Amino acid sequence: MSPALSGDGLELASKYEQPAFDRYTRPPKSLYLHFPFCEHRCHYCDFSVTRSAEPPVRSWLDAIEVETAWWFENMKWESPAVLDTLFIGGGTPSLIGSEGLVELKCRLARWFDIEPEKTEWTVEANPASFSYELATVWRESGVNRISLGVQSLDDAVLLWLGRLHDRERAVAAVGEAHAAGFERVSIDLLFGLPDDVERNLVREIDEAIKLNLSHISLYGLSVEPRTPLAKWIQSGRVSAPSEIRYADGYRLLSKELCAAGYDHYEVSNFARPGEQCRHNWYYWNRAPYLAFGPSAHGFIPPIRIWNVYRWEQYEGSLSEGLGPIDGWERVSEKDEALERIWMGLRTMKGLSMRSQSKTLSVQLERWAEAGWLKRQTDRWIPTVEGWLRMDSMVAEIASSEVR
Ligand code: SF4
Repeated sequence: MSPALSGDGLELASKYEQPAFDRYTRPPKSLYLHFPFCEHRCHYCDFSVTRSAEPPVRSWLDAIEVETAWWFENMKWESPAVLDTLFIGGGTPSLIGSEGLVELKCRLARWFDIEPEKTEWTVEANPASFSYELATVWRESGVNRISLGVQSLDDAVLLWLGRLHDRERAVAAVGEAHAAGFERVSIDLLFGLPDDVERNLVREIDEAIKLNLSHISLYGLSVEPRTPLAKWIQSGRVSAPSEIRYADGYRLLSKELCAAGYDHYEVSNFARPGEQCRHNWYYWNRAPYLAFGPSAHGFIPPIRIWNVYRWEQYEGSLSEGLGPIDGWERVSEKDEALERIWMGLRTMKGLSMRSQSKTLSVQLERWAEAGWLKRQTDRWIPTVEGWLRMDSMVAEIASSEVR
């Protein structure tokens, strides 16, 4: 459905979706902010980021403030509203700096209650622009969870990926976060690299485990069109990542991290007991959440909303009074059923055995026999082998009438 960017995009949505929006007399309790700037673009990245050594932090803060006001005014929400989770992702949010983050908190305080003891406040950071000083100010401001884009603990791999930091900087950044008082520190790790990129994954996992992290997220390398990586593969400079290496890496990471006491609680996420990322559960539970900033995707069930993609257009749209929204769609009942299955399969909550259709139950039984699901009281829980095949399981459900 195409949106109206006539200064009242949400009013238009309200016109057609009155019953859906009417339910939301209060804002969702979860907010994502996208900071769309990086000093440099990594070789595999196609996110909505603008390269900038000195990002326009003030303009970003202004834009976030305008978007927040736009939502509260259009929805007639009362402020301040309690936030259960706040997540600042990017891009490279560590480039917001200390002053920028303090300023952001002041500006958001007009609309949201951010309470250090209650709100899970995560900020992503690049080890290259992270420091003890920055971490200290963030911690004092109420940030209580750091997610570091480490990706690898091998210098040659980091160089190949086009990352700005080396292994030593990544390890130092984790230490700085801990020293500044962060008990909740997560890192991202990439796996599934092309066969020609040498890597000792076992050594890297061992080192990651010694870093005393509360949480680890895994990302399989994907080849996105128009990235340097895609061009290298096209020209034959490197081979495409192989499914075998992907699967071997995933199995190994899951085995080692679980042996070290982490729970593999979602297809890509591992946590120490009690340390799961609360923010992500809003996505996986299909709970309402707001998302501000260029390219951010929000969800006010049953409506999914996405913002103008590029920073310049997003900023321009807001400053012309046209609002932040690029598009929105109502999730149909049929798609909702599929989303629920997909979200269930991706987490260790799994799927209830009770509420499935007969045909889906038969299919799930078959997958259980194949070792892709296991029975736990009255639920089907995915195994590592199941997670490796999650996309094809969901595709099979989507293309058939088994729902
Ligand atoms: S730091 Fe992250 S967002 Fe920025 S270019 Fe690299 S992968 Fe993309």
